[in-house]
Amino acid sequence: MKRILLLPSLLLFLTSCLIVGREAESTPEPIPPTQTSLTDRAIYKDGLAPEYRAVLNELPYASMYEIEFSITDDLAHINGSESVIYTNAEEIDLSEVRLRLFANILGGEMKVNNVAVNGKSFTPTYALNDSLMTVPLESPLKPKESLTLTMDFDFAVPQTVELNYGVQAYFDDVLALAHAYPVITVYDDEGWNAEVPPQSGDVTYADMSFFEITVEAPKGVTLVGSGREISRQENGDRQTVKYAAGPVRDFYLAASPEYEVFTKKVDGIELRFYTRDYLQDGAESALNVAAHAIEIFEERYAPYPYTELDFVSTPTSALGIEYPGMIAITEGIILPDHDYLEATVAHEVGHQWFYNLVGNDQLDDPWLDESITQFATLQYFSDTYGKAGAQGFRSSLEGRWEYVGKELIPVGLPVRDYNDAEYSGIVYGRGGLFFEALRDEMGMDNFDAFMKDYTQSNAWDIVTAEKLKQNAEKYCGCDLTRLFENWIYP
Ligand SMILES: [Zn+2]
Repeated sequence: MKRILLLPSLLLFLTSCLIVGREAESTPEPIPPTQTSLTDRAIYKDGLAPEYRAVLNELPYASMYEIEFSITDDLAHINGSESVIYTNAEEIDLSEVRLRLFANILGGEMKVNNVAVNGKSFTPTYALNDSLMTVPLESPLKPKESLTLTMDFDFAVPQTVELNYGVQAYFDDVLALAHAYPVITVYDDEGWNAEVPPQSGDVTYADMSFFEITVEAPKGVTLVGSGREISRQENGDRQTVKYAAGPVRDFYLAASPEYEVFTKKVDGIELRFYTRDYLQDGAESALNVAAHAIEIFEERYAPYPYTELDFVSTPTSALGIEYPGMIAITEGIILPDHDYLEATVAHEVGHQWFYNLVGNDQLDDPWLDESITQFATLQYFSDTYGKAGAQGFRSSLEGRWEYVGKELIPVGLPVRDYNDAEYSGIVYGRGGLFFEALRDEMGMDNFDAFMKDYTQSNAWDIVTAEKLKQNAEKYCGCDLTRLFENWIYP
């Protein structure tokens, strides 16, 4: 996912906390496959833009999560339960299922209990500083077969934003919960694709999934979640809110007693900004930028997929962070004339197309969401202000690259192969400029047609460098290998 780094930030590495699993012994009987039902997806229809509703009959193998979060009165502890229907979308049998517990490498502590597969208890094993939980299966899960995993979890939320940009934190009256539940790991050509993410980049890599979420919390806080709110109840000093989000790559929740909401509508999409009341002017400026960015990106790439886009202000140490249908903006820049507000908002809105709608391995191929989103931000500025008006943002791309001496470091490396300065300079600087070079090579009309087709034909899917290259070559009828060797390939 996500963030604009203007200067390389030096962040301390963190140590994870112990997880203790306490589950009963497994029994030897075979596990019957679970039947998935696509009809359960009706609750997601109203949250999807009309152009995309047919996707509810597609994605037959997408994971279906049902999660309950119960947030304590101090907003720093979560008790949760999760049930997820997982389907083997691979062509081989799977002997285990792996889930990520990101809390254990983001400064918090998550303990998982009562893990069961189709109702039978299993004892998981843990790796990667307890951020990877492996659930063994008694009998292999065959292609297209499903199973239901259930578990409970307790999560002690960090009360600092010092680590990992504060993506999971309760700080200064704001609770931010990014991927704060056991997350199914992507299975791809690397197998179960999991690593401890470097501090500078995004931590998740996820397939499109469906989330039915119940949040139980103190009544006095405003809750903001991915997707659409489908019900709300109050009971004494507590409230229960349900959300339906999908298809999305993650579920994000923010909560604060301080939030007021400011709204705007564009092209049938409800935009909301939840922040402190004294930041109203900045929030309204951000919503204007967002509305305009959506119009530009819909025209250039593809329709925005959902009926809502929610912004929340958080004390994150990043400028902004994207989530599916949600964006976190750091409080310090929510001022109408702040130098970073417009570029940050346009960039994070761009991620709704590149990261969420069109997904990628954010750890191995960060350029496929960050570099292309920097270029989308440049297109936002040039479409809004003309070429001269976009010069300031274009110079910022050059400036980032110059910060690392304009070295010809490849744009297409994994996050772990860059130091912090290179990650900013190459992925956020040189990588944005690559798309200008690609446009020059292909010709403007071919490039514009390619960008539209690339976004629309890869919607809801995961892309790779090769997919992008082949799609571009189709439009220019040319061989882009040399260009990719000069800019992208290691
Ligand atoms: Zn970004």
